[in-house]
Amino acid sequence: MLYDVIIIGAGPSGSYAAQRLAALGYKVLVAEQHEKVGQLVCCTGIIGRECFDIFSIDKSVILREAASAKFLSPGGESLRVERETAPAYIVDRPAFDLTLAKRAQEQGAEYLLGARVRSIGVEKDFVQLETSGEDLVGKTAVIASGFGSTLGQKLKLGRVADFVIGAQAEVAAINETNEVEVYLGSKFAPGFFAWLVPTSEGKALAGLLSRHRPGLYLKDFLSHLSKQGKIEASTARISYGGVPLRPLPKTYRERIIVVGDAAGQTKPTTGGGIYYDLLCAQIAADVLHQALSSGNFSPKIFARYEKGWHSKLSTELRIDYWARRSFERLSDGQIEKIFHLICSSGIHDTLLNAKDFSFDWHSRLILNGLRHLIPRGMLQMLRAPFKDR
Ligand SMILES: Cc1cc2nc3c(=O)[nH]c(=O)nc-3n(C[C@H](O)[C@H](O)[C@H](O)COP(=O)(O)OP(=O)(O)OC[C@H]3O[C@@H](n4cnc5c(N)ncnc54)[C@H](O)[C@@H]3O)c2cc1C
Repeated sequence: MLYDVIIIGAGPSGSYAAQRLAALGYKVLVAEQHEKVGQLVCCTGIIGRECFDIFSIDKSVILREAASAKFLSPGGESLRVERETAPAYIVDRPAFDLTLAKRAQEQGAEYLLGARVRSIGVEKDFVQLETSGEDLVGKTAVIASGFGSTLGQKLKLGRVADFVIGAQAEVAAINETNEVEVYLGSKFAPGFFAWLVPTSEGKALAGLLSRHRPGLYLKDFLSHLSKQGKIEASTARISYGGVPLRPLPKTYRERIIVVGDAAGQTKPTTGGGIYYDLLCAQIAADVLHQALSSGNFSPKIFARYEKGWHSKLSTELRIDYWARRSFERLSDGQIEKIFHLICSSGIHDTLLNAKDFSFDWHSRLILNGLRHLIPRGMLQMLRAPFKDR
Protein backbone atom coordinates (compact mmCIF):
# COMPACT_ATOMS: atom_id res chain seq x y z
CA MET A 1 0.00 0.00 0.00
CA LEU A 2 1.39 3.40 -0.97
CA TYR A 3 0.17 6.12 1.40
CA ASP A 4 0.21 9.81 0.48
CA VAL A 5 1.42 10.68 3.97
CA ILE A 6 2.69 8.54 6.82
CA ILE A 7 2.66 10.37 10.14
CA ILE A 8 4.88 9.09 12.93
CA GLY A 9 3.26 9.73 16.32
CA ALA A 10 -0.35 10.12 17.41
CA GLY A 11 0.24 13.11 19.71
CA PRO A 12 -1.54 16.44 19.10
CA SER A 13 0.71 17.51 16.20
CA GLY A 14 0.51 14.15 14.41
CA SER A 15 -3.24 13.74 14.77
CA TYR A 16 -3.99 17.32 13.79
CA ALA A 17 -1.88 17.07 10.61
CA ALA A 18 -3.60 13.73 9.90
CA GLN A 19 -7.04 15.26 10.29
CA ARG A 20 -6.33 18.13 7.89
CA LEU A 21 -4.72 15.96 5.24
CA ALA A 22 -7.36 13.23 5.43
CA ALA A 23 -10.05 15.92 5.12
CA LEU A 24 -8.41 16.97 1.84
CA GLY A 25 -8.85 13.42 0.57
CA TYR A 26 -5.31 12.11 1.02
CA LYS A 27 -4.53 8.58 2.10
CA VAL A 28 -3.05 9.10 5.55
CA LEU A 29 -1.59 6.59 8.00
CA VAL A 30 -0.60 7.46 11.56
CA ALA A 31 1.93 5.02 13.07
CA GLU A 32 1.95 5.14 16.89
CA GLN A 33 4.35 3.13 19.04
CA HIS A 34 1.92 2.69 21.93
CA GLU A 35 -1.08 0.36 21.87
CA LYS A 36 -3.38 3.26 22.84
CA VAL A 37 -3.51 6.92 21.85
CA GLY A 38 -2.76 9.26 24.78
CA GLN A 39 -0.94 6.60 26.77
CA LEU A 40 1.95 7.59 29.07
CA VAL A 41 1.70 11.31 28.33
CA CYS A 42 3.59 13.52 30.80
CA CYS A 43 1.76 16.85 30.52
CA THR A 44 -0.17 19.21 32.80
CA GLY A 45 -2.74 19.96 30.13
CA ILE A 46 -2.99 23.74 30.41
CA ILE A 47 -4.17 25.09 27.08
CA GLY A 48 -5.05 28.68 26.22
CA ARG A 49 -8.54 29.74 25.20
CA GLU A 50 -7.16 31.02 21.89
CA CYS A 51 -6.02 27.50 20.97
CA PHE A 52 -9.43 26.09 21.82
CA ASP A 53 -11.15 28.67 19.65
CA ILE A 54 -8.82 28.46 16.65
CA PHE A 55 -8.76 24.66 16.53
CA SER A 56 -12.38 24.16 17.64
CA ILE A 57 -11.28 21.78 20.39
CA ASP A 58 -14.05 19.71 21.91
CA LYS A 59 -14.83 21.31 25.28
CA SER A 60 -15.70 17.94 26.82
CA VAL A 61 -11.96 17.46 27.54
CA ILE A 62 -11.88 20.47 29.89
CA LEU A 63 -11.48 19.60 33.57
CA ARG A 64 -11.39 23.17 34.87
CA GLU A 65 -11.02 26.76 33.85
CA ALA A 66 -7.75 28.42 34.86
CA ALA A 67 -8.86 31.96 35.77
CA SER A 68 -6.36 32.71 38.51
CA ALA A 69 -2.86 31.80 39.58
CA LYS A 70 -0.79 32.36 42.69
CA PHE A 71 2.94 32.91 42.28
CA LEU A 72 5.19 32.23 45.26
CA SER A 73 8.61 33.84 45.53
CA PRO A 74 11.65 31.96 46.86
CA GLY A 75 11.08 33.64 50.24
CA GLY A 76 7.36 32.80 50.31
CA GLU A 77 5.87 36.15 49.25
CA SER A 78 2.77 35.53 47.18
CA LEU A 79 1.26 37.30 44.21
CA ARG A 80 -2.21 36.47 43.01
CA VAL A 81 -3.25 37.21 39.45
CA GLU A 82 -6.75 36.83 38.12
CA ARG A 83 -8.68 37.64 34.98
CA GLU A 84 -12.42 37.87 34.77
CA THR A 85 -12.52 35.55 31.78
CA ALA A 86 -10.29 32.53 32.23
CA PRO A 87 -7.47 32.79 29.66
CA ALA A 88 -6.80 29.04 29.76
CA TYR A 89 -8.27 25.64 30.52
CA ILE A 90 -6.92 22.60 32.29
CA VAL A 91 -7.67 19.58 30.13
CA ASP A 92 -7.64 15.82 30.48
CA ARG A 93 -4.59 15.32 28.28
CA PRO A 94 -5.16 11.64 27.29
CA ALA A 95 -8.77 12.53 26.40
CA PHE A 96 -7.52 15.53 24.41
CA ASP A 97 -5.21 13.31 22.32
CA LEU A 98 -8.01 10.78 21.83
CA THR A 99 -10.40 13.49 20.63
CA LEU A 100 -7.92 14.70 18.03
CA ALA A 101 -7.24 11.14 16.86
CA LYS A 102 -10.98 10.46 16.62
CA ARG A 103 -11.45 13.56 14.47
CA ALA A 104 -8.65 12.42 12.15
CA GLN A 105 -10.19 8.94 11.90
CA GLU A 106 -13.60 10.43 11.12
CA GLN A 107 -11.94 12.16 8.16
CA GLY A 108 -10.56 8.80 6.99
CA ALA A 109 -7.05 8.68 8.50
CA GLU A 110 -5.92 5.17 9.45
CA TYR A 111 -4.14 4.51 12.78
CA LEU A 112 -1.60 1.72 13.16
CA LEU A 113 -1.07 1.24 16.90
CA GLY A 114 1.85 -0.59 18.52
CA ALA A 115 4.03 0.31 15.54
CA ARG A 116 7.33 1.89 16.50
CA VAL A 117 9.08 3.48 13.53
CA ARG A 118 12.79 2.65 13.70
CA SER A 119 14.13 4.41 10.64
CA ILE A 120 13.08 6.31 7.55
CA GLY A 121 14.67 5.83 4.13
CA VAL A 122 14.14 8.67 1.66
CA GLU A 123 14.22 7.36 -1.91
CA LYS A 124 13.76 9.22 -5.18
CA ASP A 125 10.03 8.43 -5.52
CA PHE A 126 8.91 7.41 -2.03
CA VAL A 127 9.82 7.11 1.63
CA GLN A 128 10.16 3.73 3.32
CA LEU A 129 9.66 3.32 7.06
CA GLU A 130 11.06 0.39 8.98
CA THR A 131 8.80 -0.32 11.95
CA SER A 132 8.56 -2.84 14.77
CA GLY A 133 6.04 -4.63 12.49
CA GLU A 134 5.61 -4.33 8.75
CA ASP A 135 7.54 -1.84 6.62
CA LEU A 136 5.48 1.13 5.40
CA VAL A 137 5.75 3.05 2.14
CA GLY A 138 4.49 6.57 1.48
CA LYS A 139 4.99 9.49 -0.86
CA THR A 140 5.85 11.67 2.15
CA ALA A 141 6.32 11.37 5.91
CA VAL A 142 5.77 13.63 8.90
CA ILE A 143 7.91 13.11 11.97
CA ALA A 144 5.61 14.02 14.87
CA SER A 145 7.21 11.70 17.38
CA GLY A 146 7.69 14.19 20.20
CA PHE A 147 10.64 15.17 22.35
CA GLY A 148 13.76 13.01 22.18
CA SER A 149 12.97 11.41 18.84
CA THR A 150 16.16 10.63 16.92
CA LEU A 151 14.41 10.14 13.56
CA GLY A 152 15.18 13.71 12.42
CA GLN A 153 18.79 13.39 13.54
CA LYS A 154 19.16 10.18 11.51
CA LEU A 155 18.02 12.18 8.47
CA LYS A 156 20.72 14.79 9.16
CA LEU A 157 18.30 17.47 10.36
CA GLY A 158 20.31 18.08 13.54
CA ARG A 159 19.01 17.94 17.07
CA VAL A 160 17.34 20.18 19.62
CA ALA A 161 20.22 22.18 21.13
CA ASP A 162 18.71 22.98 24.51
CA PHE A 163 16.07 21.33 26.63
CA VAL A 164 14.90 20.82 30.19
CA ILE A 165 13.34 17.84 31.94
CA GLY A 166 9.88 17.92 33.47
CA ALA A 167 8.86 15.68 36.37
CA GLN A 168 5.26 15.39 37.47
CA ALA A 169 3.03 13.35 39.78
CA GLU A 170 -0.70 13.10 40.33
CA VAL A 171 -1.48 13.85 43.98
CA ALA A 172 -4.50 13.96 46.29
CA ALA A 173 -5.35 17.61 46.94
CA ILE A 174 -6.54 18.87 50.34
CA ASN A 175 -8.72 22.02 50.60
CA GLU A 176 -9.02 22.02 46.88
CA THR A 177 -9.16 25.36 45.09
CA ASN A 178 -9.49 26.32 41.47
CA GLU A 179 -6.21 28.16 41.60
CA VAL A 180 -2.96 27.22 39.87
CA GLU A 181 0.11 27.70 42.08
CA VAL A 182 3.54 28.49 40.68
CA TYR A 183 6.65 28.26 42.88
CA LEU A 184 9.84 30.12 42.03
CA GLY A 185 13.35 29.72 43.41
CA SER A 186 16.25 27.33 43.65
CA LYS A 187 14.77 25.25 46.46
CA PHE A 188 12.27 23.52 44.19
CA ALA A 189 13.18 24.27 40.58
CA PRO A 190 16.45 26.15 40.03
CA GLY A 191 16.17 28.40 36.99
CA PHE A 192 12.62 27.25 36.25
CA PHE A 193 9.47 26.79 38.31
CA ALA A 194 7.33 24.22 40.09
CA TRP A 195 3.54 23.98 39.94
CA LEU A 196 0.48 22.64 41.72
CA VAL A 197 -2.44 22.45 39.32
CA PRO A 198 -5.90 21.29 40.40
CA THR A 199 -7.41 18.84 37.91
CA SER A 200 -10.42 16.67 38.67
CA GLU A 201 -12.17 16.43 42.03
CA GLY A 202 -9.69 15.95 44.89
CA LYS A 203 -6.80 15.59 42.49
CA ALA A 204 -3.96 17.82 41.36
CA LEU A 205 -0.79 17.62 39.33
CA ALA A 206 2.42 18.65 41.06
CA GLY A 207 5.44 19.06 38.87
CA LEU A 208 8.48 21.07 37.94
CA LEU A 209 11.06 21.72 35.29
CA SER A 210 14.72 21.37 36.07
CA ARG A 211 17.99 20.84 34.24
CA HIS A 212 19.29 18.57 37.00
CA ARG A 213 17.79 15.83 39.17
CA PRO A 214 14.12 16.66 38.49
CA GLY A 215 12.94 13.56 40.39
CA LEU A 216 14.78 14.54 43.59
CA TYR A 217 13.53 18.12 43.39
CA LEU A 218 9.99 16.86 42.89
CA LYS A 219 10.17 14.62 45.96
CA ASP A 220 11.26 17.65 48.03
CA PHE A 221 8.47 19.71 46.50
CA LEU A 222 5.86 17.04 47.28
CA SER A 223 7.03 16.82 50.84
CA HIS A 224 6.83 20.64 51.15
CA LEU A 225 3.27 20.64 49.79
CA SER A 226 2.28 17.89 52.17
CA LYS A 227 3.80 19.75 55.17
CA GLN A 228 1.87 22.83 54.08
CA GLY A 229 -1.32 20.73 54.23
CA LYS A 230 -2.00 21.18 50.51
CA ILE A 231 -1.73 17.55 49.46
CA GLU A 232 -1.83 14.13 51.10
CA ALA A 233 1.62 12.69 51.85
CA SER A 234 2.57 11.29 48.51
CA THR A 235 4.47 8.34 47.13
CA ALA A 236 2.85 8.95 43.77
CA ARG A 237 4.49 7.62 40.61
CA ILE A 238 6.64 10.28 39.01
CA SER A 239 6.56 10.61 35.26
CA TYR A 240 9.19 12.43 33.24
CA GLY A 241 9.20 14.24 29.93
CA GLY A 242 11.61 16.43 28.05
CA VAL A 243 10.76 19.98 27.00
CA PRO A 244 12.68 21.46 24.06
CA LEU A 245 13.82 25.04 24.60
CA ARG A 246 15.20 25.61 21.11
CA PRO A 247 13.94 24.39 17.76
CA LEU A 248 15.59 21.87 15.48
CA PRO A 249 18.07 23.57 13.10
CA LYS A 250 16.29 22.12 10.08
CA THR A 251 12.73 20.83 10.03
CA TYR A 252 12.35 19.52 6.48
CA ARG A 253 14.00 17.82 3.55
CA GLU A 254 12.63 16.28 0.38
CA ARG A 255 9.44 14.32 1.21
CA ILE A 256 9.92 14.89 4.99
CA ILE A 257 8.56 17.36 7.55
CA VAL A 258 9.29 17.43 11.31
CA VAL A 259 6.61 18.98 13.52
CA GLY A 260 5.72 19.58 17.18
CA ASP A 261 8.06 18.73 20.04
CA ALA A 262 10.21 16.68 17.65
CA ALA A 263 10.93 20.01 15.93
CA GLY A 264 11.27 21.92 19.24
CA GLN A 265 8.28 24.20 18.54
CA THR A 266 7.60 24.83 22.23
CA LYS A 267 7.34 27.99 24.34
CA PRO A 268 10.67 28.28 26.20
CA THR A 269 9.01 30.41 28.90
CA THR A 270 6.55 27.82 30.23
CA GLY A 271 7.32 24.64 28.27
CA GLY A 272 3.77 24.69 26.88
CA GLY A 273 3.89 23.13 23.45
CA ILE A 274 0.42 22.12 22.36
CA TYR A 275 -0.80 25.36 20.76
CA TYR A 276 2.36 26.07 18.77
CA ASP A 277 2.55 22.40 17.77
CA LEU A 278 -0.96 22.58 16.33
CA LEU A 279 -0.16 25.84 14.50
CA CYS A 280 2.90 24.22 12.94
CA ALA A 281 0.98 21.03 12.10
CA GLN A 282 -1.50 23.22 10.23
CA ILE A 283 1.33 24.80 8.19
CA ALA A 284 2.84 21.33 7.61
CA ALA A 285 -0.47 20.00 6.26
CA ASP A 286 -0.86 22.99 3.92
CA VAL A 287 2.64 22.51 2.47
CA LEU A 288 2.13 18.75 2.08
CA HIS A 289 -1.08 19.52 0.22
CA GLN A 290 0.89 21.76 -2.16
CA ALA A 291 3.50 19.01 -2.73
CA LEU A 292 0.98 16.19 -3.18
CA SER A 293 -1.40 18.12 -5.40
CA SER A 294 1.43 19.28 -7.68
CA GLY A 295 3.47 16.06 -7.54
CA ASN A 296 6.49 18.19 -6.66
CA PHE A 297 8.45 16.71 -3.74
CA SER A 298 11.57 18.81 -4.04
CA PRO A 299 13.25 20.36 -0.97
CA LYS A 300 12.24 23.75 -2.36
CA ILE A 301 8.54 22.99 -1.83
CA PHE A 302 9.17 21.56 1.63
CA ALA A 303 11.24 24.62 2.58
CA ARG A 304 7.94 26.55 2.53
CA TYR A 305 7.02 24.75 5.72
CA GLU A 306 10.06 26.02 7.57
CA LYS A 307 9.60 29.49 6.16
CA GLY A 308 5.93 29.41 7.21
CA TRP A 309 6.44 28.37 10.79
CA HIS A 310 9.50 30.59 11.23
CA SER A 311 7.54 33.63 10.15
CA LYS A 312 4.81 32.74 12.64
CA LEU A 313 6.96 31.76 15.64
CA SER A 314 10.64 32.62 15.26
CA THR A 315 10.65 36.07 16.84
CA GLU A 316 8.41 34.86 19.62
CA LEU A 317 10.64 31.86 20.35
CA ARG A 318 13.82 33.96 20.31
CA ILE A 319 12.48 36.57 22.75
CA ASP A 320 11.01 33.88 24.98
CA TYR A 321 14.29 31.98 24.98
CA TRP A 322 16.21 35.12 25.89
CA ALA A 323 13.79 35.71 28.78
CA ARG A 324 14.10 32.10 29.87
CA ARG A 325 17.92 32.26 29.91
CA SER A 326 17.90 35.62 31.68
CA PHE A 327 15.56 34.25 34.33
CA GLU A 328 17.76 31.19 34.77
CA ARG A 329 20.69 33.44 35.65
CA LEU A 330 18.85 35.24 38.46
CA SER A 331 19.70 34.40 42.04
CA ASP A 332 16.91 33.82 44.56
CA GLY A 333 17.68 37.28 46.00
CA GLN A 334 17.25 38.91 42.59
CA ILE A 335 13.99 37.05 41.95
CA GLU A 336 12.80 38.20 45.36
CA LYS A 337 13.66 41.81 44.53
CA ILE A 338 11.82 41.75 41.19
CA PHE A 339 8.91 39.96 42.79
CA HIS A 340 8.67 42.54 45.53
CA LEU A 341 8.85 45.36 43.02
CA ILE A 342 6.04 43.83 40.93
CA CYS A 343 3.85 43.28 44.01
CA SER A 344 4.38 46.75 45.42
CA SER A 345 3.99 48.64 42.14
CA GLY A 346 1.04 46.70 40.73
CA ILE A 347 2.86 46.12 37.42
CA HIS A 348 1.17 42.70 37.18
CA ASP A 349 -2.29 44.29 37.10
CA THR A 350 -1.25 46.69 34.36
CA LEU A 351 0.22 43.84 32.29
CA LEU A 352 -2.64 41.45 32.90
CA ASN A 353 -5.30 43.97 32.05
CA ALA A 354 -3.49 45.37 29.01
CA LYS A 355 -5.44 45.01 25.78
CA ASP A 356 -2.67 42.96 24.19
CA PHE A 357 -2.31 40.48 27.08
CA SER A 358 -2.11 36.95 25.77
CA PHE A 359 -1.75 33.63 27.55
CA ASP A 360 0.02 32.22 24.51
CA TRP A 361 2.18 34.98 23.06
CA HIS A 362 4.67 35.94 25.73
CA SER A 363 7.04 38.23 23.84
CA ARG A 364 4.65 41.18 24.21
CA LEU A 365 4.29 40.50 27.92
CA ILE A 366 8.07 40.25 28.29
CA LEU A 367 8.73 43.48 26.41
CA ASN A 368 5.96 45.32 28.23
CA GLY A 369 7.29 43.97 31.53
CA LEU A 370 10.79 45.22 30.72
CA ARG A 371 9.38 48.64 29.93
CA HIS A 372 8.11 48.77 33.50
CA LEU A 373 11.12 47.15 35.17
CA ILE A 374 13.99 48.93 33.42
CA PRO A 375 13.18 52.43 34.72
CA ARG A 376 13.07 50.90 38.18
CA GLY A 377 16.73 49.87 38.01
CA MET A 378 16.29 46.22 37.06
CA LEU A 379 18.35 46.30 33.83
CA GLN A 380 21.63 45.26 35.42
CA MET A 381 20.12 41.91 36.33
CA LEU A 382 19.34 41.01 32.76
CA ARG A 383 22.51 40.49 30.79
CA ALA A 384 22.93 40.81 27.02
CA PRO A 385 20.45 38.75 25.03
CA PHE A 386 21.56 35.62 23.12
CA LYS A 387 25.03 35.90 24.65
CA ASP A 388 25.56 32.24 25.35
CA ARG A 389 24.14 29.24 23.45
C1 LIG B 1 5.87 17.86 32.60
C2 LIG B 1 5.31 18.47 31.35
C3 LIG B 1 4.20 19.28 31.42
C4 LIG B 1 3.68 19.88 30.25
N1 LIG B 1 2.57 20.66 30.36
C5 LIG B 1 2.07 21.27 29.27
C6 LIG B 1 0.94 22.09 29.37
O1 LIG B 1 0.38 22.29 30.43
N2 LIG B 1 0.48 22.69 28.22
C7 LIG B 1 1.08 22.50 27.01
O2 LIG B 1 0.65 23.09 26.01
N3 LIG B 1 2.15 21.69 26.89
C8 LIG B 1 2.66 21.06 27.99
N4 LIG B 1 3.74 20.23 27.87
C9 LIG B 1 4.31 20.02 26.52
C10 LIG B 1 3.40 19.09 25.70
O3 LIG B 1 3.22 17.89 26.41
C11 LIG B 1 4.06 18.82 24.35
O4 LIG B 1 4.39 20.06 23.75
C12 LIG B 1 3.15 18.04 23.40
O5 LIG B 1 2.80 16.79 23.94
C13 LIG B 1 3.87 17.79 22.08
O6 LIG B 1 2.99 17.18 21.18
P1 LIG B 1 3.57 16.33 19.97
O7 LIG B 1 2.41 15.84 19.22
O8 LIG B 1 4.59 17.10 19.23
O9 LIG B 1 4.37 15.13 20.66
P2 LIG B 1 3.87 14.07 21.72
O10 LIG B 1 2.66 14.51 22.42
O11 LIG B 1 5.06 13.71 22.51
O12 LIG B 1 3.44 12.84 20.81
C14 LIG B 1 4.40 12.08 20.13
C15 LIG B 1 3.81 10.71 19.86
O13 LIG B 1 4.73 9.98 19.04
C16 LIG B 1 4.84 8.65 19.52
N5 LIG B 1 6.15 8.16 19.08
C17 LIG B 1 7.38 8.56 19.51
N6 LIG B 1 8.36 7.92 18.83
C18 LIG B 1 7.72 7.09 17.96
C19 LIG B 1 8.18 6.18 16.97
N7 LIG B 1 9.49 6.01 16.75
N8 LIG B 1 7.27 5.48 16.26
C20 LIG B 1 5.93 5.65 16.47
N9 LIG B 1 5.44 6.50 17.39
C21 LIG B 1 6.32 7.23 18.11
C22 LIG B 1 4.70 8.80 21.02
O14 LIG B 1 4.31 7.59 21.64
C23 LIG B 1 3.62 9.88 21.13
O15 LIG B 1 2.33 9.32 21.13
C24 LIG B 1 4.29 19.63 29.00
C25 LIG B 1 5.41 18.80 28.92
C26 LIG B 1 5.92 18.24 30.08
C27 LIG B 1 7.12 17.34 29.98
